[in-house]
Amino acid sequence: MTPFAFENRIWDRAETTPRDRLMALQLQRLRRTVARVAEVPYYKEAFARSGITPRKIKSLDDLRRLPFTTKDDLRRYYPLGFLAVPTEKIVRIHGSSGTTGRPTFVAYTARDRDTWANLCARFLVAGGLRPEHLVQITFGYGLFTGGFGLHYGIEKVGAAIIPAAAGNTPRHLMLIQDLKPQVLVGTPSYSLQIAEVARAQGIDPRSLGLKFAHFGGEPWTEDMRVEIEREFGLLAFNNYGLSEVIGPGVSGECVARRGMHIQEDHFLVECVNPDTLEPVPEGENGELVFTSLTKEAFPIIRYRTRDIASLDSSPCPCRRTTVRMSRVVGRTDDMLIVRGVNVFPSQIEEALLRVEGTAPHYLIEVDRPGAMDMITVKVEMRAQDFSDEMRVMEALRERIDREIQSITGIRVNVELIMPQTLKRSIGKANRVIDHRREKGLI
Ligand SMILES: [Zn+2]
Repeated sequence: MTPFAFENRIWDRAETTPRDRLMALQLQRLRRTVARVAEVPYYKEAFARSGITPRKIKSLDDLRRLPFTTKDDLRRYYPLGFLAVPTEKIVRIHGSSGTTGRPTFVAYTARDRDTWANLCARFLVAGGLRPEHLVQITFGYGLFTGGFGLHYGIEKVGAAIIPAAAGNTPRHLMLIQDLKPQVLVGTPSYSLQIAEVARAQGIDPRSLGLKFAHFGGEPWTEDMRVEIEREFGLLAFNNYGLSEVIGPGVSGECVARRGMHIQEDHFLVECVNPDTLEPVPEGENGELVFTSLTKEAFPIIRYRTRDIASLDSSPCPCRRTTVRMSRVVGRTDDMLIVRGVNVFPSQIEEALLRVEGTAPHYLIEVDRPGAMDMITVKVEMRAQDFSDEMRVMEALRERIDREIQSITGIRVNVELIMPQTLKRSIGKANRVIDHRREKGLI
């Protein structure tokens, strides 16, 4: 009898390496990586400035002597200034889109590509994938790493793939109905679109026969997991990665689903305060920073992901020995510091999602009228829930207040406003106005 929802299978014995041996391996690989990047212009300069040589890396603590790398650093050496191998060694190039329009590129050697497939295989198997399964991929195939990363990982496991790619939801639905995959891969929000199209056609998503889903590519909440699992009657697993580090496969959930196991034999992780760059205590939210340990074409040192999450090194019942990361709760770009507490718009959204009767339209205003920071959350009511009765409205307001406080830990002012009063924006909605910035207070 297994205590889990299904059998806990481990793809790669390396995932259960005892901590002391894992750390010795990390140190050996870190030294090799530092040697490998010594001729990469950015690192060459940074190492020369701080007097770093591979020999000076004597313990894992010496990682902190190495420079951070940011997305802006990658942009400065556009397109492939971080390459650590001759171009003829490259077998693949991927990229991630940037706000500037130009992607940042990353490259893989044949060995990197195999490593990547193996890392994806690890989290897929941890989350239920078996060779007998058929998997539908709804990620885009292209410069973005999601489609190809998962594709090669699934092949490695020996399962079959429907490479349906992104877009055309009715077609996705048709393929699921006709070919009956047991596993869905893509972004969590897209699965809900498939459910919506199914319902519009009078099809119960639970009748589609999906058993597992592997989601990544965007932050999502635990509430959304519950919703997706209920909608399809499947088990949904979270995985994490970014192209600068390798793509999907940096971490993923096991059957215990108590955070995502970071593949520490391939990546060193740090969790730092994004302002001071000092490590934060375990369990506290901070910015994730990754150093690759085995990559050949595009090794990266202390890459600042701008993703905010926390780490957990307590033992996991699945027997994997690696540290786990929480869901990504936000991006440093979005983070608001209010009365010394980090608050993310996504946390406020999560609180609102828990309260029936509010529309998904809200505005967060931050101000410092006196000595104290104040947050006001303006929440649109749904037309059918708008009430003339003060008592009803007050109860709803208090409920929202409580949910926000339970998630963020701070009190905010909640204002309920009439339906259709907030300005609608096309594309990414602007949900935050920080008056402190206008006043030059931050
Ligand atoms: Zn585990």
